[in-house]
Amino acid sequence: MSSVFILIIFLFLHSFTSQDKFQKERESMVKNQIENRGIKDKSVLNAMRKVLRHEMVPSNVVNRAYTDGPLPIGYGQTISQPYIVAFMTEATNPKPEHKVLEIGTGSGYQAAVLAEIAKEVYTIEIVNELYKSADKKLNELGYKNIFCKAADGYYGWEEHAPFDAIVVTAAAEHIPPPLVEQLKDGGKMIIPVGAPFLNQNLILVEKKGEEVTTRSLLPVRFVPFTREK
Ligand code: SAH
Repeated sequence: MSSVFILIIFLFLHSFTSQDKFQKERESMVKNQIENRGIKDKSVLNAMRKVLRHEMVPSNVVNRAYTDGPLPIGYGQTISQPYIVAFMTEATNPKPEHKVLEIGTGSGYQAAVLAEIAKEVYTIEIVNELYKSADKKLNELGYKNIFCKAADGYYGWEEHAPFDAIVVTAAAEHIPPPLVEQLKDGGKMIIPVGAPFLNQNLILVEKKGEEVTTRSLLPVRFVPFTREK
C-alpha cells in the first residue's frame, strides 16, 4: 500500500517537473527562435507560448519538441519548424473573428496555433491515420474551434467558405484555383510553391475584389502536396 502511495507521489512530481521543463523550453523557443528573428505580432507570440508542442509530436521525439527544426511525425511527413509556423501565421494576419482554412493537418500543431487566435479553424489532411490522430489529440487538448476532415485539400472546404485566411503546409507545384476561389475578399493565403523536395518559396496570395496578387516571402522546404488517386 505505502509503495503505491510513494509511486503516485513520484509520478505526480515527475509530471510536474517535466511540465515545468517544457514551459521553460517553450519560453526560450519563442524568445530565441521567433522573437529574435523578427516576429512581432503579439497574438502570434502568445499562441506560440501557449500551444503544447511536446504533446503534439510522436513520443520518440518529445525531447526535441522545442528544437529549431522540423521533426518526423510518421508516414513520411513532418511537423514544421516553430519559426516557420509563426512566420506563416503572422503572414496571414489572423484575427479573433476570423475563419481560417488549413491544408495539411499533420500533427495538428499549426491548427492549434491558429485556433488560439482565430474564431474557427477548418483543417484538412490527406493521410487518414494522421487525420485520426490529430483529431483525437486536438479533442484531448480541449480545442473546440478546430474542425478536421480527411480529404484532398486541393478542393478546399466549400461548405465553410469563404475564409479570411488559408494556410497551406505542403508544397504545391501551383496554387490550387479552388483555394483562391474560397478566399474572402481582403483575405490572405500563405502557401509553399515549388517542385517536390527542391527549392520552394512561401507565396503570399492576397485577394482584393477581382484582383489576386502574389508575393514571394521566403525560401523554404516542405513535404509535397499530394493528390488523391
Ligand atoms: N501543419 C502540419 C504540417 C504537416 S506536413 C503540422 O503542424 O504538423 C504537411 C501535411 O500535409 C502532411 O501531413 C501531408 O500528409 C499533408 N498533405 C499533403 N498533401 C495534402 C493534400 N492534398 N490535402 C491535405 N493534406 C495534404
